[in-house]
Amino acid sequence: MLRRKEKMGFHGGFNLLDTYPLKFCNIIEEIQSDRTPEKFEFHFPDQKIRHVIVNLCPTEPWALPNWVVLGHKTTAFLDKLYEMKTRYFPEASVSIAINKRETEFVAKAIGYANAADWIKIYTLDPKYPQDDPVMFAKVILGLDINFGQNITTQGIFIFDAQTLLAIYDTCILKNTVNSRLITLSGSGLKENEIVRVRLGTSIDTLLQHRTQEAIKYNIFVNGPLRGREITDISQKIDWSVNNIVVLKDQDSKVIFPMLKSDELAFTTNILGEPRQCVYCNFCDNICPVELEPALYYHSYIRGEKHKARLYHLEKCIECGLCSFICPSKLELLRINKECKALDRKT
Ligand code: SF4
Ligand code: SF4
Repeated sequence: MLRRKEKMGFHGGFNLLDTYPLKFCNIIEEIQSDRTPEKFEFHFPDQKIRHVIVNLCPTEPWALPNWVVLGHKTTAFLDKLYEMKTRYFPEASVSIAINKRETEFVAKAIGYANAADWIKIYTLDPKYPQDDPVMFAKVILGLDINFGQNITTQGIFIFDAQTLLAIYDTCILKNTVNSRLITLSGSGLKENEIVRVRLGTSIDTLLQHRTQEAIKYNIFVNGPLRGREITDISQKIDWSVNNIVVLKDQDSKVIFPMLKSDELAFTTNILGEPRQCVYCNFCDNICPVELEPALYYHSYIRGEKHKARLYHLEKCIECGLCSFICPSKLELLRINKECKALDRKT
């Protein structure tokens, strides 16, 4: 059964895939671990699984593309999914969220679903952050969940294709899974690559001979928008690492930043001296949960953090789009997180 939701969904968001298309070299090299390889493990919960959403709609250019995992084996993938459903979540609804532009996957999945009443296909506009759990739950299930909430306690599971196949290999075939595919990309690297990495390999080992020489750079695990910046490169790769982005450190001043929003957008650097809000409203328009980041910013700089907390700040899904789009490079997400943390302390 096919559901099209590309015109539904949410306001705001941003199509990162169009604006910053990334090309990866197709050679997938196996990176050996410098430590004892770790194993992927998964245990199905005792509680009933009510909804399963399979995420085939990555929205970030640095995310692992579908073709790497699925290749031309969409039907075999769906057969495995059916075997897992039958065994582990027989009563759950199963929804596949697919980027509507990936026409080969869409056609195969629709052809499959036409003969299977257990699966629904949702062809979605891949604007960021469509694949955030909060947005998936809203668009596909019609449920409002809170950011940071453990949705598995509500019987909702969201899997990417690689994780589903790892669960299949581990739980059904009883194979050992001790490596995963990840992407390496960004202006601080010599080239963008997709590599297979043994779990437990350090990020240091992974980046050896891959970063550009004689530059300063910042390293992000799972992207510069909703991932985290790391400084300890002895950290190891575990199953939660989908990608590593290395960005050149840029700290030179930019004159008239409001005229250079395109140029400034793809950086998390503050770029020179602190600036003023120019009231452009870019941040308000792009917010996918209809918040007003500029309002929080102005409350914050007036020293009125408590006021920022009055305007539904708890709905912020920490997607980072407001900081990303701000031509003054104001650290809006950091301010949001600081104000949200006050709620947890008081
Ligand atoms: S980080 Fe929060 S406030 Fe900023 S755009 Fe995303 S949801 Fe909106
Ligand atoms: S995007 Fe930045 S400069 Fe524009 S209104 Fe928001 S905070 Fe102000």
